Amino acid sequence: MPTQVSHPDEAVVLKRRFGQGATNIDKYVALDGYKAVQQAIEQGPEWIINTMKASGLRGRGGAGFPTGLKWSFVPKNDKAKYVLVNGDESEPGTCKDHVIFLEDPHAVIEGTMIAGLAIGSKLGFIYLRGEYRYLLKIVEKAVADAYAKGFLGKNIFGKEGVDFDIITQTGAGAYEVGEESALMESLEGKRGVPRIKPPFPAVVGLYGGPTVINNAETIASAPHILLMGGEAYAKLGSERNGGTRLFGISGHVERPGVYELPMGYSLRKAIYEVAGGVKGGKQLKAVVPGGSSCPVLTADEIDVGLDFDQMGKAGTMLGSGGIVVLDETVSMVEFALRVISFYQHESCGWCIPCREGTDWIKKTLARVYAGGGSRKDIDNVQYLADNMMGRTFCPLGDAAAMPTLAFVKKFRKEFEDYIDGHRAGTPVMSEVHELAGAAH
Ligand code: SF4
Repeated sequence: MPTQVSHPDEAVVLKRRFGQGATNIDKYVALDGYKAVQQAIEQGPEWIINTMKASGLRGRGGAGFPTGLKWSFVPKNDKAKYVLVNGDESEPGTCKDHVIFLEDPHAVIEGTMIAGLAIGSKLGFIYLRGEYRYLLKIVEKAVADAYAKGFLGKNIFGKEGVDFDIITQTGAGAYEVGEESALMESLEGKRGVPRIKPPFPAVVGLYGGPTVINNAETIASAPHILLMGGEAYAKLGSERNGGTRLFGISGHVERPGVYELPMGYSLRKAIYEVAGGVKGGKQLKAVVPGGSSCPVLTADEIDVGLDFDQMGKAGTMLGSGGIVVLDETVSMVEFALRVISFYQHESCGWCIPCREGTDWIKKTLARVYAGGGSRKDIDNVQYLADNMMGRTFCPLGDAAAMPTLAFVKKFRKEFEDYIDGHRAGTPVMSEVHELAGAAH
């Protein structure tokens, strides 16, 4: 998708977008790059953490945990500590971190160094999802250039005793490793399944050492925040939701793209003004506001601000910033089946509610989709999803159950009509036809 900025003067993370050549280290330096990390070396950990706390930056991966607070949790001891950048962007509908790696990889490197200075770490890892392997070359070149300049390695920027190294790593294509503890398992070369918590990564993380794990956009925001000041960054956003963030607006809109918008920006305006409205002048049917795990909003529910708190009050989540717009032609039966099929496929199979729940919901919806369902199936799907909620080892179970519940509750009439023989929308997915046929 193209990268767009609807408010260029307020761009923070996308400041160095569009062919400004920031992948080149000299260009990056000319655009104020590596200034923030030098400031961080001068000012020290307490200043970094206080500035990040003042910024109101909350994790851009989806959880929305305050970044400065997270960094402050790392114990101040002599243990080897690590920074782990989560670039495993795999939530369907999400493609924002990709833009940062593609156009501004040094911002991720500099942010990783700043996080390291804040917690007393000398080693950072940048983990890219397997499907982003083609971006690895760009990131690796940026890391090599930073070493060549003396920005990474021993005595960085000529400062005696200040060392920092970065290692890059790619995954093998599992959604599950976006979860922080599964990410650490994967990085350590093991099967990417979650760890029992507590202990939390800030205390016992990678290789047993205290570890800060942040999403790539979160990390890339840090240099900008240090340069502009925490308070100034906070003011760009809404209450308790500092700054701007990247949103990938896709689906049935005139101008799909990755946009940087202030936190709290109107979802309606994002669809109708920023992304040009529903494609072809069709009616809006629904919006998945933050990646496929977020409960769907109906067309009547889009007068809401895009921040963690306002979206929570609206009964959904800001998630990973992947806004998927669905027009009137979309069959919600088919869409619900497509979503649960993804989670069923990605379930690691460890815990029963997730493994069996996703499988039975998929089978039931496939039967409905194939035309062999009964109204009882809608209740069964709801029962299954209800019994997954809060009963699984990692968040994938909830991520599958939450959207399913929203689909069958908010669009129950459409499910009933479909079952009664009145199809809404035209099925288009050949793979689901096959799936539905198999379950019929
Ligand atoms: Fe695996 Fe699903 Fe359980 Fe997570 S919730 S541990 S993905 S089975």
